[in-house]
Amino acid sequence: MSRHLIGFACTLTLAAAAAAQTPVVRTADPLKRGLALADFPRTVKVADNVYTYEDFHAGPEKFTTTNLFVVTDEGVLVADGQGSVPETRALVAAIARVTTRPIKYVVICSDHGDHTAGNAAFPADVTYVIHPASKAILERSPNAWKPPASAVLVAEKKSLTLGGEPIDILFLGRAHTGGDLAVSLPRRRILFLSEIFLNRVFPAMRSAYPGEWLKTLDKAEAMRADLYIAGHGFTEDAAVSKEEIRAYHKALAAVIAEATRLHHAGVPVEEAVKQANWGEYASWTLASSQGPIAIRKVYDELDGKLR
Ligand SMILES: [Zn+2]
Repeated sequence: MSRHLIGFACTLTLAAAAAAQTPVVRTADPLKRGLALADFPRTVKVADNVYTYEDFHAGPEKFTTTNLFVVTDEGVLVADGQGSVPETRALVAAIARVTTRPIKYVVICSDHGDHTAGNAAFPADVTYVIHPASKAILERSPNAWKPPASAVLVAEKKSLTLGGEPIDILFLGRAHTGGDLAVSLPRRRILFLSEIFLNRVFPAMRSAYPGEWLKTLDKAEAMRADLYIAGHGFTEDAAVSKEEIRAYHKALAAVIAEATRLHHAGVPVEEAVKQANWGEYASWTLASSQGPIAIRKVYDELDGKLR
């Protein structure tokens, strides 16, 4: 699968051969990956008419928030936005550099602000698609963007065809938010997982369902997609993406296992936060801020406090 990067002023083409010869550094950190901060935001062509858009998440640690967009003769489907109106405006502008077709659908795969707070920048007439749990979360969050009454609810699965492109919008189970949606392009075997898959980013559990998240990843992997796309971290080529979703699954299982070990040993939660040994995952992006959150969430789950 060839990949092309589309910069602001010009279209860069990465020779597939060169890309294949230079193994990518497995990290969410742009500098360790050999990229410059000025390379972002960027659009990555992953297949004909299928693109990701990567811009930096807010905060001191640099890593990308990654969106999907699918271009068809009947318009564009976008999965997830960015975290502010100016950033999502830049996403809309990047789409306009690729196609003159209008944005028809915006799928809210993650209801978190870093993927929805910029949604006012999308055209007013787009159809939003959202899981009922995410709709409820946004409606009761004081400062969140609010989905319009016309938003289409997907509790399990919605299949649509846009410009001849079959697209499945799927709820594979609770994971990072509880209303996690995925976008599948079955004809191309591409699966955009949003925050179900964090590529080399420490499992972030503020609103997660740790045990169910593992099962949701089982389902995503059982779909045997050719290309898995994460909602944070870089867009990989097909072969690397399959390894990285495995690596993420392993990381999530390891984090849950470490928190469970401490819980079973009777270590009080505040002590467990200090004692946790994350091993190789201590070097993943956000480990220092997300580690304590993961301990508390797994403790809550083990104590029957998650509903
Ligand atoms: Zn996020």
